[in-house]
Amino acid sequence: MADGKKQLFGTNGVRGVVGESMTPALVLKIGMALGTMRPGRVCLGRDTRTSGLALINAAKAGLMAAGCDVVDCGVLPTPALQYLVRDAFDAGVMITASHNPPEYNGVKVIEPDGTEMGDAETIRLEEHLFADRFSLVAWDRVGQQTEDLRLGERYVDAVVRSFPAGTGSGMTVAVDPGCGAAASTTPAILSRMGCRVFTINGQMDGRFPGRLPEPSEEGLRGLSELVRGTGAAFGVAHDGDADRSVFVDEQGAFIGENQEFALVADEICRNRQGIVVTPVSTSNLIREIARRHGCSVEYTPVGSIYVARKMRDLLSAGKPVVFGGEGNGGLIYPEHQFCRDGGMTAAMMVAILAGSGRPLSTLIAGLPRYTMINRKVHTDDKQGLIDALALKFAGKNIDLRDGIRIDQGTTWGLVRPSGTEPFVRITVESDREQAARQFHEELMEVISPFLTRPV
Ligand code: MG
Repeated sequence: MADGKKQLFGTNGVRGVVGESMTPALVLKIGMALGTMRPGRVCLGRDTRTSGLALINAAKAGLMAAGCDVVDCGVLPTPALQYLVRDAFDAGVMITASHNPPEYNGVKVIEPDGTEMGDAETIRLEEHLFADRFSLVAWDRVGQQTEDLRLGERYVDAVVRSFPAGTGSGMTVAVDPGCGAAASTTPAILSRMGCRVFTINGQMDGRFPGRLPEPSEEGLRGLSELVRGTGAAFGVAHDGDADRSVFVDEQGAFIGENQEFALVADEICRNRQGIVVTPVSTSNLIREIARRHGCSVEYTPVGSIYVARKMRDLLSAGKPVVFGGEGNGGLIYPEHQFCRDGGMTAAMMVAILAGSGRPLSTLIAGLPRYTMINRKVHTDDKQGLIDALALKFAGKNIDLRDGIRIDQGTTWGLVRPSGTEPFVRITVESDREQAARQFHEELMEVISPFLTRPV
């Protein structure tokens, strides 16, 4: 780790194909390393993947060998585990590969404050792991195991309590947990808010027979049909560990994640003045909605952990942070907890529709329209490409906190290098379609000489 970079862990934990890079042997070492760093009580959970039980037992073995007492909560969403860990445990371990296909699994490490482990501590954990440097305890201090499969209900209670009783009375909703962890929580949350709930893919099944864990527009056709067939006010779907939510409207039409973000921001910023925190990759739609209500936006690098930590830091400095999130359906409610929370976002949609009395499609149609272009291009010289853009746009409104973002009035572009692979991601957005296309071409003139494959 001479270069001070994470090698094993990515932005949201470590992931890999089961039986190849993701094995009980690796998770055992993660358990021993974490137990060495965070001695005490550790809470564990998993999503519904077929490999979850093998891997959670490996994590528990490592932690107990390092002297930690472990509490196994069984299957539950990542935000539920984060809620339980916060202020009640010395660490948490979530066995999940989030939205990845069924052959993957992974580990997210949770800090005592309920946030995912940050870069500096993750690098320390990797150092323990690569050097086989573990503090294992003697026979009479090995940790104990408790199983408490009902702990997740505390999370359901907390979300339900965030809204007035009966907020969803008379509303029909459709839920697609995708056979993932939300099967145990989101239908219960919405029922207890007073909604009439229909589910599709509501059984837990780590083979994900109904659709892939990524809640793509394509995968949600069944949910759209359920919405139309039941007359539901909306349909909500989650990724495998339910930290993200995506929606279809009352006609079954897929709602873009930036529009979902904007709708919730509109609701929150209307009632409270303050700051919304989001990565540089998020649509200007969020900034526009925040401004309308006298709120401002603060940017971070791409990654929910950076958003969550910036929210905490600003609040510690006495700044009024009201909301945060990413443009992928991962939204963070600081009064509830500092992590993306899919169940909370589903509940929030009930409150928004109950409060407005208008159909979801109408609310979405009322949002400002933006054109966004997203693409990925291959290059062997990511830094040279970024440097060339920085030179070309020197003196303009440039943000270098993650790749390069260039703002020109209501048009902007972001070029971000992949952390591990030879490509960059390009995002261009404008409130005018023609301006978006023009700026994309302008960027490509600088980028093209660096490409390893023809465009
Ligand atoms: Mg996820």
